[in-house]
Amino acid sequence: MKYGAIEAGGTKFVCAVGDENGQILARIKFPTTTPEEVIPQIVAFFKDNPVSAIGIGSFGPIGVNEDSADYGKILNTPKLPFKNYPFLAALKAEIDVPMAWTTDVNIAAYGELKAGAGRGTDNLVYVTIGTGVGAGIVANGELYSGVSHTEVGHSLLVQNPADDFKGACPYHGNRCIEGLAAGPAIEQRFGKKANELAVDDPFWEIEADYLAQMCHNLTLMYAPAKIILGGGVMHQLQLFPLIRQKLVKLINGYVELPNPDEYVVPIALNDDAGVIGGFYLAQDLVKE
Ligand code: ADP
Ligand code: ZN
Repeated sequence: MKYGAIEAGGTKFVCAVGDENGQILARIKFPTTTPEEVIPQIVAFFKDNPVSAIGIGSFGPIGVNEDSADYGKILNTPKLPFKNYPFLAALKAEIDVPMAWTTDVNIAAYGELKAGAGRGTDNLVYVTIGTGVGAGIVANGELYSGVSHTEVGHSLLVQNPADDFKGACPYHGNRCIEGLAAGPAIEQRFGKKANELAVDDPFWEIEADYLAQMCHNLTLMYAPAKIILGGGVMHQLQLFPLIRQKLVKLINGYVELPNPDEYVVPIALNDDAGVIGGFYLAQDLVKE
C-alpha cells in the first residue's frame, strides 16, 4: 500500500508518497501562497500518485479538537489567505481517503518516533527551534493533545543575567522561549543572521541556558525517554554538549536522567521527518 503526507509549512508545502517502511517514492514542493493556488496542486499530485490514506501536518494555530467547529481549520494565522481556512474539509471534498490532521511539529515528532532518533522509545518530546519554537509530545506511542495543541514555545523561562535583550515575542517579550531563543530573537540581538555568529561566540552559552531550561521543564512535565531537538538554530551542533551540561546542573539530582548524550539528541531525519511521520500517521488510519 502507498501512503501520502502533506507538510503545510509557513513558507512551503511538501506533498509526498511513501511505502509502509517510510521510504519516500515521490515528492513535490511549492510555496505557501493562497488556498486557491495550493489546493489544486495537492489534488493534482495525489491524482497522479494515488494513496490509501494521508497524514497532514500544518502550520498553526489549527483546530485539532474533533468536537469543535474549528476542527480541520487553520485558525488565527498571520498568513492572511489561510486565516480560518477549512483546509481539511477542502481536501476531503477533492480526495476521498482517510486523513489524519495534526500540527507540522507533531508529524515531525511522529516521524522521529517511528524512523528517526526516537526509534525504540514510546515517550519523547521533539522540539523545533527555528523561526518559532514548537514541540510535539509523544506519550505511550501517541501524539499528545489537550483541548488544543500545546504551545511549548511560549512557556516561560528565567532570563540569563548576562542577557539584556528585550525579547522578540509580541505576547511575552523576554519571558518565553520563543521570545528569547528562536532564530528571529538571535537575529534581532545581533542584527545579522544567526548562522553568521562564530561557533565559539559567547552567546551560544546563553542560548544553551534557555534550551536547557526548556529541557528541564519538559523532563519534569512529560518524563520523556528522549528529547530530540531540530530546526534551523540546532544546526549549531556545539549547543548540544552545552545544553546537556546545563540540564544536568538544573535538574541537580532531583530526578534520575538517562545518559545525557543519549537523552538530548539532534533530529535524525532532518527535512524528511515531517513527511515520514505523515506516512506513519496515514498507515495508522488504515490499520485501525
Ligand atoms: P522554519 O522554522 O521557518 O520552518 P527553520 O527551522 O529553518 O525554518 O528555522 C529558520 C530559523 O533558523 C531562522 O530564524 C534562522 O536564523 C535560523 N537558522 C537557520 N540556519 C541556522 C544556522 N546554521 N545557525 C543558526 N541559526 C540558523
Ligand atoms: Zn511568547
